Amino acid sequence: MNLDITAQNLEGNSSKARLREIPDICPICHRSIHPKNVGNFLLTPRGLVQAVFRCTSQKCEELFIATYTIVGGANECRLHNIAPKNPKKSEFPQTICDISPTFVDIYNQTIAAEAIGLTEIVGIGLRKALEFLIKDFAAKQKPSEGEAIKKVFLGKCIQDYIDDTNVKQCAKRAAWLGNDETHYIRKWEDKDVTDLKLLIRLTTNWIENVILTQKYADEMTETGA
Ligand SMILES: [Zn+2]
Repeated sequence: MNLDITAQNLEGNSSKARLREIPDICPICHRSIHPKNVGNFLLTPRGLVQAVFRCTSQKCEELFIATYTIVGGANECRLHNIAPKNPKKSEFPQTICDISPTFVDIYNQTIAAEAIGLTEIVGIGLRKALEFLIKDFAAKQKPSEGEAIKKVFLGKCIQDYIDDTNVKQCAKRAAWLGNDETHYIRKWEDKDVTDLKLLIRLTTNWIENVILTQKYADEMTETGA
């Protein structure tokens, strides 16, 4: 959808411009919206138009700025970015929040960093989040070895203290990719943080399965049947 607007330069003179794409999701509340265009400004030397929009959800009503690059004659503008962004927090099952609240915190801080363009540190953040998840889970499974688990390297922790095969398979691969993100040379060149996020998600899913299965096995014993 296009929007024809009038944009003001620094001196207050107006020019016509055509915005080729209008944001349809509010970057603050994440609702689907048809935002209200409340002001447009031309940054002449940089060939940019900044359009101020207002979220039309009554629960939000916040302002945000869409920056457009002038790409064609008659000030045709292509959407470049939207700010500010309120990163959408990743939801994890209650089981995971209970086992490792620190994992959930670090994971969401990492996603927040990614949302504001700090992409180079995303892998490192995910790697740290994974370490908390695995160590907190391992310590819950083997409380008497908690101290040893805290000190051991992540790879060794997965190898020695994680019994469930699925958790182990996924966590091991997540750790490989996580380590890649912190080193100068990559080993897994065809994999990136998207794969790492997916492996962490799989790891949390398997951990949840283990915990819930144990819970029901404990609550409903064979002898009680
Ligand atoms: Zn909103």
